[in-house]
Amino acid sequence: MVRIAVDLNRCQGYAQCAFLAPEVFTLHGEEVLLYAPEADEAQREKLAQATAACPVQAILVDVVDAPSEAVSGDR
Ligand code: SF4
Repeated sequence: MVRIAVDLNRCQGYAQCAFLAPEVFTLHGEEVLLYAPEADEAQREKLAQATAACPVQAILVDVVDAPSEAVSGDR
């Protein structure tokens, strides 16, 4: 599983991420970015491209190997 975080204070709505990984990132209007907080391993390559393409480095991608049940304290 891949965990995604976007620093929305940095995000300028350039939409590079929405173009490169549309399954994860969607731009609503001109500046509101919506994204899935978690994605499948299959999205990893696209996420890496989106992360690299973000002009303001707002995207953080974390690969989580442990099953999500093992993660606590994040709710
Ligand atoms: S590429 Fe970066 S700045 Fe552009 S919409 Fe995505 S997160 Fe925001």
